[in-house]
Amino acid sequence: MAKIEISGISKAYTKDVPVLKDLDLTIQSGEMFFLLGPSGCGKSTLLRILAGLVKPDAGIIRFDGEDVTEVPPEKRRAAMVFQNYALWPHLNLFENVAFGLRCLGVKGGELINKVMEALELVRLQDFAKRRPASLSGGQQQRVALARALAVDPPLLLLDEPLSNLDARLRDAMRVEIRRICRLRKLTALYVTHDRQEALSLADRAAVMDNGVIRQMGTPEMLYDFPADRFCAEFLGDVNLIPGRVEQRNLISALGNFNLSHPCRNGNAVGAIRPERLRILPENAPDVPCSFGATITDRTYLGESCLWRCRTALAEVEVRESAGPARKIGDRIRLSFDPEFLLVFPE
Ligand code: ADP
Ligand code: MG
Repeated sequence: MAKIEISGISKAYTKDVPVLKDLDLTIQSGEMFFLLGPSGCGKSTLLRILAGLVKPDAGIIRFDGEDVTEVPPEKRRAAMVFQNYALWPHLNLFENVAFGLRCLGVKGGELINKVMEALELVRLQDFAKRRPASLSGGQQQRVALARALAVDPPLLLLDEPLSNLDARLRDAMRVEIRRICRLRKLTALYVTHDRQEALSLADRAAVMDNGVIRQMGTPEMLYDFPADRFCAEFLGDVNLIPGRVEQRNLISALGNFNLSHPCRNGNAVGAIRPERLRILPENAPDVPCSFGATITDRTYLGESCLWRCRTALAEVEVRESAGPARKIGDRIRLSFDPEFLLVFPE
């Protein structure tokens, strides 16, 4: 494991079309760091630059303080796990995992020990003689992980590793990847466009858009206190309330709401996550942060229920853990804790 420092990295594959723009990022030793962003924002490019497979136009990469920007991939030894596993179909699992070690000159008993240890880590030690084609997608991805870990890399790079798996397997593999990273105290950079994956696994994450990092922080910070509207919408559902900020109030068609955080005066959009809205009776007395609404639709989700409500402004969504009986057409009040009203200048 190593501390990874990325400073001032820029990359354009074609002139005048920048893919990464002067990017700075530090990943602490042993940290599981996530890059979260829409398709095409430059995530894979940054991973390839870290692995040494793509040369940046500008900037410096350091592993534990050592400048590795010009170091070729095989000497950097950052291990990569891809979405499509990239296993060799004609080799059995043992040989797939052994490949990188052989390239490093490991042989004999040491080779056998390291391969079997890696296969044990992903719980596939009994499958060493099998070919990849005889395994499920999840098992193949575990082989790819074992192959990456066998060489004891300073940095593990994961590029959307679970995208090809179905939802149930994805959940199981998430837990597995986290267990292995913690056990081995790995420094890992994990790229995904799936916010659930990032929020559930990351020590810290960065939200990327169009070659720049918009915000960096813990999952809780990113979700509850997004830096801008893009981050708010990328990390989860939000209800938007257009309006205007004056003297620390959001003036909107739903009412005037006192802001708990300072915000500059002018046009702005308020944002509240659906689970931060509470449903009260229509005639609830004197609730400061609240507005009237009518229930128009219900989506039952088992552990929670999603209510769509008509307001003076637009439809809003409210997520409520399963509970009270309500019906379409009910008149209600929706209230919120001012701390969770986010406001972004427009
Ligand atoms: P992400 O992984 O976030 O989806 P990528 O890093 O793969 O994004 O791609 C970022 C941008 O760079 C995209 O517009 C993509 O088309 C372009 N791109 C990626 N690889 C190459 C390449 N080898 N040559 C030219 N353009 C590329
Ligand atoms: Mg990609």
